[in-house]
Amino acid sequence: MTVLLDARHLEKRFTLKAGLLGRMGAALARKPAAHQVVHAVNDVSLQVHEGEVLGIVGESGCGKSTLGRMLAGLLRPSGGEIAMDGKAADTTATAHHLAVQMVFQNPYASLNPRLRVGQMIAEGAVYHGVAARADAPAFVNDLLAQVGLDASYADRYAHQFSGGQRQRVAIARALALKPRLVVCDEAVSALDVSVQAQIINLFMELRQRQRLTYVFISHNLAVVEHMSDRVAIMYLGRIVEMGDARTVFAAPNHPYTRALLADAPRLDGRSASHQPIRGELPSPLSPPGGCSFHPRCPNATARCAAEVPMLRDIGGRMSACHLND
Ligand code: SF4
Repeated sequence: MTVLLDARHLEKRFTLKAGLLGRMGAALARKPAAHQVVHAVNDVSLQVHEGEVLGIVGESGCGKSTLGRMLAGLLRPSGGEIAMDGKAADTTATAHHLAVQMVFQNPYASLNPRLRVGQMIAEGAVYHGVAARADAPAFVNDLLAQVGLDASYADRYAHQFSGGQRQRVAIARALALKPRLVVCDEAVSALDVSVQAQIINLFMELRQRQRLTYVFISHNLAVVEHMSDRVAIMYLGRIVEMGDARTVFAAPNHPYTRALLADAPRLDGRSASHQPIRGELPSPLSPPGGCSFHPRCPNATARCAAEVPMLRDIGGRMSACHLND
């Protein structure tokens, strides 16, 4: 398959300024206040192939949303590079923002409450020359039909819609710019379960009709399993396992993937043992040394606390665990 987006060694660090006590202590000691650094995304490399759905899954705080925002150009990486169609991409440029669109978790927060839906869908497309102003009404009607909404809804405001309808408007607005890649960040997580299924079906229909490519970010394993061709499992800012979704979900290699699957309900009725992963997700402010999963891993050895396992090919998929040596 053709590689559409190629991300190499992406890093994102956030610096947290010292709090009041830290600043006072530093002032008393006549030293500069120490800032803390959060490594939200750590040396992540992945490829997105044209026409595929790449699922990214992990617990809250694992860095998956930060990664999605870097791919879409909404956050500037602290390190690494992103290429589109084999050429280095300037993710701050308008061309990249048009090519990669995002659909967010909360459609109410992502839609402008002062604009009618028709204006919201058309304004970006007209501004960027994707549609002529004279053609805007027909352009909007066509997009509303594609996402399953009546053309008369173009005159309504966001607050006049249900959650599922708002998400359909958000999808229409993303599609209006004719993106090459759509990054869906927990795009169905805030919806009722019955509405979730409708929006998932809509994503899949649009994919078939328009040959769309998705990066589908979710903490919901069942949804990711249903949607994805390939899947990347993230833990504390790193990808720990990545490969064909059916293979990974049927026979997970990494202990963290196994623990996630043991805890999660599955769409096809396969019963999980509902064993919660032991311990809490460590703070990204002070991640454990070595393999960052080692304090929670049932298979950990002394080596795991000392040495970071590299993500490497183990025959058809990638995994980062010393047990594979
Ligand atoms: Fe567990 Fe060690 Fe593998 Fe990390 S490297 S997942 S701690 S066995």
